[in-house]
This record gives sequence, structure tokens and C-alpha cells, in this order.
Amino acid sequence: MKSRARALEAISGNPFDLCIIGGGATGAGCALDAQLRGLQTVLVDGGDFASAASSASTKLVHGGVRYLEQAVKKLDVDEYRMVQAALGERIHMLKNAPHLAHAAEFLVPVFSRAQAIYYQIGMKMYDWIAGKDNLFPSRFLPREEALRRMPALRAEKLHGAVSYSDGQFDDSRYDLSLVQTFTEAGGEALNYARVVGFGKDSAGKLTSATLRDSFSAGEFSIRARAFVNATGPASDNIRLLASGDAKRRLRPSKGVHILFPLEEFRSVDALLVPKTEDGRVIFAVPWMGRLLVGTTDDEATPETKMVVLRSEAEYLLRQLNPYLAKPLRLEQIVSGLSGLRPLVAAGEGHGTKELIRDHEVEVDAKSGLISILGGKWTTHRLMAEDTINHVQKAMGIPVTSSVTREHPLVGASGFSTEYRKSLASEYGLDEATAQHLARKFGTRAPAVLALARADSSLSEPLVAGLPYRKAEVVYAIREELAQTVEDILARRLGLQMFDWRQAMAAAPAVGDLLASELSWSRDKRDEAVATYAAKIREFLKTVGLAEKAA
Ligand SMILES: Cc1cc2nc3c(=O)[nH]c(=O)nc-3n(C[C@H](O)[C@H](O)[C@H](O)COP(=O)(O)OP(=O)(O)OC[C@H]3O[C@@H](n4cnc5c(N)ncnc54)[C@H](O)[C@@H]3O)c2cc1C
Repeated sequence: MKSRARALEAISGNPFDLCIIGGGATGAGCALDAQLRGLQTVLVDGGDFASAASSASTKLVHGGVRYLEQAVKKLDVDEYRMVQAALGERIHMLKNAPHLAHAAEFLVPVFSRAQAIYYQIGMKMYDWIAGKDNLFPSRFLPREEALRRMPALRAEKLHGAVSYSDGQFDDSRYDLSLVQTFTEAGGEALNYARVVGFGKDSAGKLTSATLRDSFSAGEFSIRARAFVNATGPASDNIRLLASGDAKRRLRPSKGVHILFPLEEFRSVDALLVPKTEDGRVIFAVPWMGRLLVGTTDDEATPETKMVVLRSEAEYLLRQLNPYLAKPLRLEQIVSGLSGLRPLVAAGEGHGTKELIRDHEVEVDAKSGLISILGGKWTTHRLMAEDTINHVQKAMGIPVTSSVTREHPLVGASGFSTEYRKSLASEYGLDEATAQHLARKFGTRAPAVLALARADSSLSEPLVAGLPYRKAEVVYAIREELAQTVEDILARRLGLQMFDWRQAMAAAPAVGDLLASELSWSRDKRDEAVATYAAKIREFLKTVGLAEKAA
């Protein structure tokens, strides 16, 4: 990717066919779809790409077994169709980036024959809807097999488990790969550029967007024939900027996850807790060497903070622990995530748990703003296809076919599950490093390793004992528009999700590399490291953890 300064130069004041606002899953998906259909497109984000909901998900590529249950119980055809569409999309997401997404098995513990039959029927329906794109067929596991597959399960009164399949993926890297694939197709992308206003013609139609550069605080404009609002939970703000009398539509809901060492769980399969105290489901999913437990679902207010509260962590433990032989404890938490779901209001009087996770494309007749509202990660490609169809209609040009259904993302071409082995032998890497690089960068891993070959100091680990290398940091700055310590540790490398304290320990080295790559002064580097450390300290404090591990 271009450097940020060069991207800014290429964007500022120049005309585009389409400007996409918001670089989460939805905006990045829209940008790729549009550029591949031949529309000259620019993608902007007010923060970093994937810095909001799109890196805070449960990392499931799924139709949603709970939504299917709701669809059946309420005979809700729309919700059924949403599950069907998501199951159709699941396979494309897996195939387009096999290094970032894979199939996984989920176990639902059952405590009676009746429960086993109930979940087996449900999961068979899930298999049937997925049809030829099903990953593995669901089945009943007798008690002994369930305990062998998941030794952490509480054996008392356990009748068995129903296993079913869904996908798992690396959400923030999937987003970044969409952005990189988009720029390699000729699009322009810029992070830390917030839309703060619009220019309009005499009829009130949008002709330009005014953006504020977060680093210089300077403003610049982008001219385009059409504007797509893909700002997820912030969509109402952009709708109101375009049209002062727009009615608010979004009902954001906060969801948090907590992560634990995986050692005690001793399973590669995920666990679905089928009933929580508030009638939902939660997951405990092995992910990148950790156990990811989530999520909560609480209506957000303007005061809602993006941290994991102690009460939220306690809620998750209260739901999960009755299913475990050895309960997990709060002080074992290594990190956490929080995000806002961009749910769309269905009407007054519904809680956020009841809002369906479907999407809607809204075209504002007067300003021409096209807002893509709601949806979920799994359906981002379909949402993008739908949105760009509307864009072409609004532009008065023929609606052409989307080509994203089978379009490999960067790092996907030539990838196989054996790829890590060839990487290890060619570059003399240990198993863990080869696996780590293959899963993060796919067949782009040699580009990271080339940096380490050119400068041996970059082959050093970022943190002793973990596979993250300094070369990844430099790659993230040069090729993935990383601008801050958090951009690198949270979204490009994923060390922040692996361990808050280890991420804080790695921050000074990351600060040094940022300073040398982006010509920062010593003061700027120190301030960047201190800001990051303060943020992590707040995360630890809010959930009730000490700065040093016990
Ligand atoms: C807790 C939780 C768990 C979830 N789990 C799953 C799951 O397992 N599977 C699944 O399929 N889905 C899941 N989802 C849903 C999924 O994560 C979201 O639907 C999806 O990420 C939304 O993407 P988005 O691009 O619409 O929004 P976001 O990712 O929030 O992106 C919006 C972007 O807009 C930018 N922005 C905002 N204002 C401006 C502005 N003025 N100018 C420029 N840019 C701006 C923001 O910086 C942000 O990057 C989950 C969501 C949550 C919160």
C-alpha cells in the first residue's frame, strides 16, 4: 500500500466516482466490490481500519444457530432468510481467505435425551439450510466422546453433546486484507480521516465530503459522484450530517469478550452455552492460543465506554462456569474486547436482543447519501453487493455483476494448510513462527521475511517466547498503513488480544520502529508509547486486574 502521505496527496481534492465512509467490514467490502466493478473508489476511516465493531466480534463466520431457533419459534420468514443468506456467504468468506478463516466444530452440551433430540433436530436443519456448502454434518456425541473431545466439560449429569460446524476467522486481519486487496485493485484508502461535513449542489445533492486529518487537524475535501455511509454504529451521525432532519435508526448494542489461557480448556473444539440467564447463547472458542469467551448484549447509551467492566466479565463467567469441571476465575483473564453492534431499530419497545441482525440499504432521496445499515461480518460481501447495486442505480449507470463471490484476498493465492511447512523449511523457521506468519499473512509471509533477511535485527522476537517478529511491525507500517502503537499491536499483529500485559511490554520496541519508519521525534515516540500503556492500564483496572500478573 502507499504511505499515508502519498495516499492523502492522491485523494485530496481529486474527483472519484465513489467515496466510501467507514473502513470496517462493511465499508472495506463495499470498496472492493465497487473498485472491481470499475468505479474509481476512495475509502476513508475516521480512525484505523477495523478499529470498531469489525475487530470486536466473536470471530464466527456463521448463519447463527440462535437466530435459526428464533426464526422457527416465531415463524419469522425474514429471520430464516437471513440465516440462509449468512450460511450461503460463509463458504465464500472461507474460500476467499483460507489463511484467515477456517471451519471449526462446536459442541452443545446436553443433559437429557429430550435436550439431545431438540438440538439434533435444530442442527440438522442448520446443515440442511447450508446444503452443499455445509462444512461438516452435525451429530450426537455420547457422554464419553464429548468428555474426550472436551475434557474441561463438567461430567456431572452430562448426557452427551451435539456437535455442529461453523467458521472462525481473524476479523481485524480479514478487514485489512479487504482494504489491501482493494488498493491493489487501484482504489485509494486513508485511515485517520474523519468526515465532518458535506458540500452540496443547489438541489441539495452531495458533491463533496469534508474530512479532518486526525494527525495534522487540517481539513481537506473529496469530490465524488456518490457517497456511501458505512460507519456501522456511527451511521446516524453521517445521515444527520447529510440531512439535518434524518430520524435516528441505529440502536447500538455493546458486546464484550474476555480471553483466558487455553491450556486448561484442552480442546480444539468450541463450546456453545445454549441458554444464558437472559435467554441468549454464549460461546467459549479456542482462538489463536487463547479461549475467547463472549459475548454480552446490552443496549448502548452515549455514556457507554469501550472497556470490559468487571460486572460484564462476571456475567460471562456466571454463564460459562456451570458447564466446566474447573471454573475459570476473573484473575486468569489475559485480555478482552468490547464493541458496538450496529443494530437497526425495528420499532419502539424492542430490546436489542430481539433486533434482527439483517441489513438495509437506505438511499436519501434529497442528498443522495447511500447508507448501508445493520448486518453482520459474515454477510459483509452480500451487503456490499447490494449497496453497490444501489450505487450504480443512483448514478444512472447499468448495474453490473459483483465479482467478489470468488475473489481471493491478498495472501490467499497459493495458500494451503501445508503452506506453513514450506515456509518453515525455506526460511529455517520453527513450527510456531511459521504457523503464526502463515495464519496472519498467508502467501504474503515471504514479504515479511524478506524484511528480516535484509535487516537481521528485524528477525528478533517482539516479546521473548512469542512468535511475533519485529519484521511484522515494519511490514504493517510500510504495507498496511499502521500509524500508531495500537494499530500494530491490536489489529495487525493481534498481540493485544493475546495478552494485554505482554502488549504493554512490547510497546516501547514498537514505538522505536514507528519512530524510525515515520521519522518521529523522540518526544513523539515517548508520547505514543505512554498513551498506549495508559490505555492498557485502564483496561486492566476496569476489569479488576493488577498491572503485573499474579
Ligand atoms: C460483540 C460483537 C460480536 C460480534 N460477533 C460477530 C460474529 O461472530 N460474526 C459476525 O458475522 N458478526 C459479528 N458481529 C457483528 C459484526 O462485527 C459487525 O456487524 C460488523 O463488524 C460491522 O462492521 P461495520 O463496518 O458496519 O462497522 P464498524 O466495524 O464499526 O466500522 C465503522 C467504521 O466507521 C468509522 N467511522 C465512524 N464515523 C466516521 C466518520 N465520521 N468518518 C469516517 N469514518 C467514520 C469508524 O472509525 C469505523 O472504523 C459482532 C459484533 C459485536 C459488537
